[in-house]
Amino acid sequence: MSRVGFIGVGVMGAPMARNLLKAGHRVRAFDTSPEALAAVVRDGATEAGSAGEAADGAEYVITMLPTGRHVADVVLGPGGIAEALDPAALLIDMSTGLPAHFDATAESLAASGRRMIDAPVGRTSQNAEAGTLLVMAGGSPEEIDRALPILETLGDPVIHCGPRGAGIRTKLVNNYVSVVSNVVVAEALTLAEGEGLDRDVVIEVLMGTTAGQGHLATTYPAKVLADDLEPGFMIDLAHKDLGLAIGMGEAAGVAHGTGLAALECYSSARDYGMGRLDWTAIYNFLRRCAGS
Ligand code: NAD
Repeated sequence: MSRVGFIGVGVMGAPMARNLLKAGHRVRAFDTSPEALAAVVRDGATEAGSAGEAADGAEYVITMLPTGRHVADVVLGPGGIAEALDPAALLIDMSTGLPAHFDATAESLAASGRRMIDAPVGRTSQNAEAGTLLVMAGGSPEEIDRALPILETLGDPVIHCGPRGAGIRTKLVNNYVSVVSNVVVAEALTLAEGEGLDRDVVIEVLMGTTAGQGHLATTYPAKVLADDLEPGFMIDLAHKDLGLAIGMGEAAGVAHGTGLAALECYSSARDYGMGRLDWTAIYNFLRRCAGS
């Protein structure tokens, strides 16, 4: 079993630290919140007086902090992890932060021969408790192999996303989808209520179509990802139907901001001559706009 330094034992970090303890690892924790720190110490962690103290003598150090700036502070700041980290140890940043902050911190550490990988997580604090977080790891194959005994205690699955920095970038792509689609769903249900519909019936309908099942599970594998742009449902029709729904939302006085943004995208694709292609060709349209 390993000696693990754990920095940041809040909503996510505390259950993760507890799972390491349950698996038999020795955890030395630090948090600027005395209450948060006391809670994991009650469960068997050793208290550290600073991030550097938590890292001293550890084989693995985990940071689970609000942002990449917090991580940079605890790694590179006075009394920080960089001052204490053994060159043979591995620093695993599991926070969600700006990739540029992570890159700069990892590069600073690498300059003194110390290794830092990114392994942010998807899912919720319930999954943190159950040890079923989805871990998105970025690092060399050797570094990920080295981290696996720890990561597999915290999550299932652990997905190796690519080289250092690929985990945090994948996490932001994931959250772009989940955070934006949350608003679309809220707009749709508000629209349904505005029209006096039975919400449960509307949800039953949505769950029977791409609306609720999601494009990645339904249309994309069959169409654009298979290079098949023969229309199952064409961009012209998607544009027409979205316009109708927006008109209904306008009349009902409910929010439809994401719908308007999407309509602009469909309109541009039509202007570009893609109206009669499958609606998933929107992906190709945006790739062309991005020059890829
Ligand atoms: P949190 O605010 O509950 O926990 C962060 C902890 O870090 C707090 O206990 C805080 O006191 C501590 N802290 C802040 N600055 C510190 C410092 N300089 N030194 C030591 N400790 C410090 O947040 P959380 O919900 O546990 O989230 C942690 C990270 O995980 C975030 O990046 C978040 O985006 C990500 N995340 C959260 C969830 C979720 O459902 N809560 C899910 C996936 C990912």
